Amino acid sequence: MAKYTGPSCKLCRREGMPLMLKGKRCLTDKCAVKKKKYPPGLPKKNRRSKFSEYAIQLREKQKIKRSYGLLEGQFRRIFENSSRMRGVTGDNMLSLLERRLDNVVYRMGFASSRTQARQMVNHKHILVDNVIVNISSFIINEGAIIEVQSKFKENLMLKDSIKLSKATNSVPEWVSVEFDEAKGKILRLPTRQDITDNFNERLVVELYSK
Ligand code: SF4
Repeated sequence: MAKYTGPSCKLCRREGMPLMLKGKRCLTDKCAVKKKKYPPGLPKKNRRSKFSEYAIQLREKQKIKRSYGLLEGQFRRIFENSSRMRGVTGDNMLSLLERRLDNVVYRMGFASSRTQARQMVNHKHILVDNVIVNISSFIINEGAIIEVQSKFKENLMLKDSIKLSKATNSVPEWVSVEFDEAKGKILRLPTRQDITDNFNERLVVELYSK
């Protein structure tokens, strides 16, 4: 699957906020957003130009899309699926994004970033209901059991991620996790209230509705 391979920190600086793309590093003073509070390539440092309505909508879409590590086509498909679902399109979109397997692995604390989670999925280290699933866009349903494959359970990266997750208490309420077993369950589907990131999904709906 195609993916963005450029520098992650530049994406955060472009959006003017930490998108948490590098796991542990994002929580340290090495975070580029903290060090350089201006967009990359901007000649006049510390100054952000005034955005048009379209540019504001576009930036918000980029922010959400980049947070979940998606390319335009993948993000657009999620939006189109969410617009066909019952309920509020923006809420559906965020819920679908949260239910992607790579995001669930990240939220459960088995990876310190979505990129790392995606790599674990692609490398067949993740089981869903006892079956290996190597599709990071796989949408998880309520009641699903997610487990790290037994061969990978002693991996240092996994142990580090679990340690970080415990320290930051970052597991959301819609999942339950047994860290010792590297296993978790989807208790219920995520709602808008579960997503604490600073997203304004209404702007994305406005952008795509033009
Ligand atoms: Fe973004 Fe993390 Fe880089 Fe900070 S360290 S700029 S949050 S990817």
